Amino acid sequence: MSNYHNILVAIDFSEASKTVIDRAIEIAQRNKTPLTVMHVVEYMPPMDIAYEPVPSFAWIDEDALVERARSSLDRFCQDHKVEQAKQVVILGSPKLEICNYARDRNCDLLILGSHGRHGIKLLLGSTANGVLHDMPCDVLAVKLKK
Ligand code: AMP
Repeated sequence: MSNYHNILVAIDFSEASKTVIDRAIEIAQRNKTPLTVMHVVEYMPPMDIAYEPVPSFAWIDEDALVERARSSLDRFCQDHKVEQAKQVVILGSPKLEICNYARDRNCDLLILGSHGRHGIKLLLGSTANGVLHDMPCDVLAVKLKK
């Protein structure tokens, strides 16, 4: 197996995230390379028919959502003893943001779960399936139990 230098792991805080981060830590240690742990706050404001955000949703504080996710990711990294990992929280569509980040930062391996909150009934969940087609680098979909 080739050496990886820039590994990204995508965490959705589902129960199976422990399996995903454990696998990522093991691979990062074997490759002696740092790890970036990423969470995407999945939030798309509903649009009206003119594709403008619906005003009644304007009260949702996007900054607060991101801030809460940052705290959760920080706690998650502490719980799994990866405090030294780079932590990234972005607001948007998981598939899109994971692919963009990996491309922009020249990641050479993406690690994610075979399914998470979206894909429990599918062989490959929607995020896992979606990134496979667009990722510029290797992808490891850690097989998770149903
Ligand atoms: P899914 O395909 O959406 O069922 O999820 C498969 C995997 O994609 C999960 O196990 C995570 O590794 C990753 N993933 C899904 N949603 C997110 C998210 N919002 N942020 C980061 N990673 C995610």
